Amino acid sequence: MDALRELMQFLQASPTAYQAVENLSGMLEAGGFRRLNESEAWSLEPGRGYYVTRNQSSVIAFRLPERGFAHFQIVASHSDSPCFKLKPQADRTANGYALLNVEKYGGMILSTWMDRPLSLAGRLVVRENGALVARPVNFDRDVALIPNVPIHFNRTVNDGVALNPQVDMLPVIGEEGADCLTMVAEAAGVATEDIAAADLYLVNRDAPRLWGAGEAFLAAPRLDDLECAWCSVRALLDAKGSDHIDVACVFDNEEVGSGTKQGADSTLLEDVLGRIAEALGATGQSLRAAVARSFMLSADNAHAIHPNHPEKYDSENRVAMNGGVVVKFNANQKYTTDAMSQAVFEEICRRAGVPVQRFANRSDVPGGSTLGNIANAHVSVNTVDIGLAQLAMHSACETAGARDVQHMLNALRAFHASEIAVDGDGRIRV
Ligand code: ZN
Repeated sequence: MDALRELMQFLQASPTAYQAVENLSGMLEAGGFRRLNESEAWSLEPGRGYYVTRNQSSVIAFRLPERGFAHFQIVASHSDSPCFKLKPQADRTANGYALLNVEKYGGMILSTWMDRPLSLAGRLVVRENGALVARPVNFDRDVALIPNVPIHFNRTVNDGVALNPQVDMLPVIGEEGADCLTMVAEAAGVATEDIAAADLYLVNRDAPRLWGAGEAFLAAPRLDDLECAWCSVRALLDAKGSDHIDVACVFDNEEVGSGTKQGADSTLLEDVLGRIAEALGATGQSLRAAVARSFMLSADNAHAIHPNHPEKYDSENRVAMNGGVVVKFNANQKYTTDAMSQAVFEEICRRAGVPVQRFANRSDVPGGSTLGNIANAHVSVNTVDIGLAQLAMHSACETAGARDVQHMLNALRAFHASEIAVDGDGRIRV
């Protein structure tokens, strides 16, 4: 199967970060990577691949060279996407309907979530033989819908409508009498009384589709940032680092500021890199030197030029779908890219024949932020912010360039195949 079809299957099977990490873990297992547990001591064999998860929603995978190592070459991305989370008392009855009490997770385009069948997914914590065990759960069927008010009761709806998440965004899950917990227990195959707690989300389960002349575009939920996350693991599986350790880390909670125990603003990456180094006998000075010689790609999708609103974009630094990997710039360093990291990444792409395009926001638009600069506060290495151009970021259904998946894979493979040697401050050989 080609990369694009594999990505489409992954997107459909990964409605929340829990399924994304479960599926990425499955890819790693199939590729011979061994699972590590953070709560045990690690002993590592040279030449092997390993992965570790935290909170079942973040994963870091790495491959060791045959002997020793000089530094790390890291690709970072995120596993979460904007959606709605069920509140602890989620069931609500009104006007003959069974509704769900939900709140926003991250910043989505609210209107795109209306009038489309939605599903539920997340994880359950289940009582099992005296233990509390977290289990990913994916309904994978149409169980809910958030209806619009008819235009006859809102004649100004096409002039723009303000949607209140407490009032307008509650999904219907059935007729009065239906309740969420019974449905969840049934879907998960567990008894209602065995469910101790749940992290459940309302998700879009639309199948990813290719569209347009020549099937140039891919429409799917969660392209931001599962497209980069999948590419990072796919590329790592093919990597064979010689003097360095190749790493893919996929963090949860980027959409809500990364400040959780499993987010980019946690100790996860520094814990894992430190433990790898320790298991290989590189501690203290040698670990610090290895980190100083390391390089990171912060991979998160970018904004393609909008066909009807070009005025929202900088006139020179705009990017197109299928135009290649995007390098992102921001003077205030919301994106980590600087001249040094740009030069290294673009040189790798140039040699590999991967097209590169450059993005910067209009100077009067604050733009978004991502995880590279946050991760840098914990593991400070030369980093460049990259991504793939897409439309409608944070819509329930986003669109990206179908040919760009291969561009990103080629770039990441070339990155892992390159030996980036940081010789000193301001001198890097590629
Ligand atoms: Zn993102």
